[in-house]
Amino acid sequence: MTHITLAKGDITTQHVDAIVNAANSSLLGGGGVDGAIHRGGGPQILAECRALRASRYGKGLPTGRAVATTAGRLPARWVIHTVGPVWSASEDRSAALASCYRESLRAADELGARTVAFPAISTGIYGWPMDDGARIAVRTVRETETSVDEVRFVLFDDTAYRAFTEAIS
Ligand code: ADP
Repeated sequence: MTHITLAKGDITTQHVDAIVNAANSSLLGGGGVDGAIHRGGGPQILAECRALRASRYGKGLPTGRAVATTAGRLPARWVIHTVGPVWSASEDRSAALASCYRESLRAADELGARTVAFPAISTGIYGWPMDDGARIAVRTVRETETSVDEVRFVLFDDTAYRAFTEAIS
């Protein structure tokens, strides 16, 4: 049984086995959560991301997929990088967003991670409406078979915290 918990704050400070990065497909860093993780974790994470680009993911990590690195100086042991879809009003990309949560939990299972912190993937720079993003996140975690004991959604502001509170109720 996976417990879903909510926390407000910065995902980089979480003491969990793995934190999930809302990365972009280059894996080479960006703004938002991605920037905070690379700033906090130091150059080790970027070095591992570059190695992934030079081997398995020459064209970048596809949307909806997930891949793990270690977490450098962060308290977590691992960072699971996943690429959310950019919001589109004309096309339903919710399957790709659900895939991010599912594939990240699969990566967590492969690592043996039992506690995993997620940000609200795609709801920042990628423009996904928060309420809908929260509903997809909670529904997908509830539907996924995993050995992870705790999924902690780490929400950066009150709007996100309220949306996830509503989504789990
Ligand atoms: P995306 O490109 O997938 O939209 P962002 O990093 O821009 O990713 O934003 C995803 C969500 O994470 C947004 O709701 C944003 O407010 C939030 N966020 C930004 N920085 C942090 C952080 N350090 N910890 C947790 N959440 C964060």
